[in-house]
Amino acid sequence: MDYNKLAELIFPDITKTVADLEERFPKRGLPEGAYVTRLAPSPTGYMHIGGLYAALISKKLSEQTGGVFYLRIEDTDKKRELEGGVEEILRSLADYDIAFDEGPFPGGEKAYGPYKQSERKEIYQICVKELMKKGYAYPCFCTAEELEAIRKEQEEKKADIGYYGEYAACRNLTYEEIEAKIRAGAPYVVRLKSPGNASAYITYQDPVRGTIEMPENQMDLVLLKSDGIPTYHFAHVVDDHFMRTSLVVRGDEWLASYPTHKQLFELCGFEQPGYVHIAPIMKMEGTTRRKLSKRKDPEAAVSYFLEQGFPAESVREYLLTIANSNYEEWHMANPQLTEDDFALSLEKMPVSGALFDMVKLTDVSREVISGFSIETCCEKILAWAKDYDADLYAFASGRKEMFLETIGLWKMSGKKVRKDVAKWSELMQMFDYLYLPQEKFEKTVSYELDEKYTVGQLTEAVEAYKKDLFLDTDNWFDRMKELGGPLGYCPNMKEYKKNPQDYKGSIADLCSIVRVAVTGHKNSPDLYTIMKALGEDTVRRRLDLFLASLS
Ligand code: GLU
Repeated sequence: MDYNKLAELIFPDITKTVADLEERFPKRGLPEGAYVTRLAPSPTGYMHIGGLYAALISKKLSEQTGGVFYLRIEDTDKKRELEGGVEEILRSLADYDIAFDEGPFPGGEKAYGPYKQSERKEIYQICVKELMKKGYAYPCFCTAEELEAIRKEQEEKKADIGYYGEYAACRNLTYEEIEAKIRAGAPYVVRLKSPGNASAYITYQDPVRGTIEMPENQMDLVLLKSDGIPTYHFAHVVDDHFMRTSLVVRGDEWLASYPTHKQLFELCGFEQPGYVHIAPIMKMEGTTRRKLSKRKDPEAAVSYFLEQGFPAESVREYLLTIANSNYEEWHMANPQLTEDDFALSLEKMPVSGALFDMVKLTDVSREVISGFSIETCCEKILAWAKDYDADLYAFASGRKEMFLETIGLWKMSGKKVRKDVAKWSELMQMFDYLYLPQEKFEKTVSYELDEKYTVGQLTEAVEAYKKDLFLDTDNWFDRMKELGGPLGYCPNMKEYKKNPQDYKGSIADLCSIVRVAVTGHKNSPDLYTIMKALGEDTVRRRLDLFLASLS
């Protein structure tokens, strides 16, 4: 077979060569050891937590070595693509503060683009043409029925399933047969003519998993589909070569394809990049572990955490604790440093899938939020509420000073920074009596009442308080003591503890009753400040509402 002639028959319009591509996409002039990494998602309109995890690892590795991190959109499967899918990916990643040096976005189209596979058709065809000239590619005209018949035969013979060796019918077509089929308009794919032998083994050194032995690839896999678009395998080899990726960080579902990729790099005459195959994020179902699933688990989507009000920083921080088990210890030892200061190590990455642990994320997030200043919290809450909580947004944007004050009240109890909030939605639960419009509050309030108070006692206390709310004094607590004395609430805690039988309760009980009546909650930050914020009219309405609820 004259493969040069075959290549001209199949690709008459391709005049450029691989050498032209080598010149167009020269090696990047980066210092020794700098990683060029990438994220290569398909635009399915959905960003999986595993994608964010891979992005975080890839970005860190490039950043800490002074390399390049770019985004490549793998849109070769038009059936799976969703309208606006690329924008969704960019938005999700931006939400998590993952920025790229290069990619298909304004300002990102640099010399190694285009960064969407659908715009690189000619590049793939140049490379396949060259493989064909070397005798490593051929057109295959087999129909679905013919492929099915091959599969059946292999099953009966208990042979490996696939298109290879003696089963690869189109391997042996003559030039004339091929030409006749093409003239007749028969559809075809282009396959690799694999020189591999499945009884030979290759050795692969993975930084996470160590040395792995795998059989050589013997399959004549499809390089170009019938529409001239490449398969993942071929696009990976061409793109990662010409975009000059030096380290491919990808999910371990691709590990089994490594021998195919190694072979393709060799046959194309390209230097192979390094690889890291990362373990997926898992979930327990009953007693078995499984991957987080787009269909079954809301937490598989990165948008879920932001909707819930987890700050992006918390999710990133949590993912880093999965990526390197020493991260947490490092951060505790160096609380003043940020994740940017941490050197991520490939060797410390987990070999088997880590379980996604919501409790752990919550703990990490409480810690992260406690490190934010009051102003930072306010900014972040406002940004979150704008998209996810209209009532909170109305309050926070309409009553900025008051909002700042309540966040201050929540964050600091005495001199200690509170660590009780993991996501912003919890603040609405905490401050519903302040952030909700009155009508909504009235409909939803439930009083956290201590059983020890009788209805008569509650009514008496609230009626008495209602007469004078003391909202214009600096000494609210003293005034409450004066009010409580005649009602039988001991103003002095020590004295009360000594002789509780002499009193209805302590001053703390009286304040607690008023607190529940006004806010519904047993605990709240400084009640006086809260009542001032609510205003006299609202406080009175709340007290009436409470009294009405007793009868
Ligand atoms: N598009 C592939 C995926 O989403 C990319 C795998 C890779 O990073 O090479 O799984």
